[in-house]
Amino acid sequence: MINIENQSERLETMSPQAILRWAVDCYGEQLAVVTSFQPTGVATLHMLYELGVRPQVFTLDTGLLFPETYRLMDELEALLDLRLERVKPELTVEAQAERYGAALWESAPDTCCMLRKVVPLGTALQGYDAWITGLRRDQPGRACIPIMSWDHKYEKTKLSPLANWDESMIWTYIHAHELPYNDLHDRGYPSIGCNTPTCTQPVKTGQNTRAGRWVNHAKNECGLHVLSINLDGGC
Ligand code: SF4
Repeated sequence: MINIENQSERLETMSPQAILRWAVDCYGEQLAVVTSFQPTGVATLHMLYELGVRPQVFTLDTGLLFPETYRLMDELEALLDLRLERVKPELTVEAQAERYGAALWESAPDTCCMLRKVVPLGTALQGYDAWITGLRRDQPGRACIPIMSWDHKYEKTKLSPLANWDESMIWTYIHAHELPYNDLHDRGYPSIGCNTPTCTQPVKTGQNTRAGRWVNHAKNECGLHVLSINLDGGC
């Protein structure tokens, strides 16, 4: 039985690659990677590729992603020989509109994320013991995330191997390895989710990197992660 807190402390001093290697060795086929193909996810998938391992990869295909995101997904699936499953919600976008009204992301974004992301991920992760995320401590509201923790929502171990890297380190890695990334990042979108006027907007200079998410709503996370939110950066 692993003591998660102690192991997380040990992982603090290790490189992301060493953390990934440890996770693969420890959890084997019970380990899954969950990514939305943002820069941290791209770097994570490439590190796993370089380690010569192919864990199951899940991405949440809400049916509302940007064309640029779908293109990147296809490109990386081929480039890195991913074992990728596009996890879809039970309801199509049209069926959701019929049942809950049009633009649920405007009227009730938490419900929309629950239906299109949170519940489908729970179903996908059944049978897995641990999952890898792309959370980083330099992202707004995420300063306190551990490398390894117990995920009470999904009742699995959660790993954030690049928690200690900042955005510039991620981009240095991506450029050094000439990896593809979402074109929208070059057009002012640091964080990319669904392609609706509410859920993903470009940010202005000086705004935080998640300021374009769920604009005009108090919401700032999709609900996959239970975080101790502290926007002033303290823990
Ligand atoms: S990001 Fe927006 S459209 Fe996508 S699932 Fe969440 S609320 Fe719905």
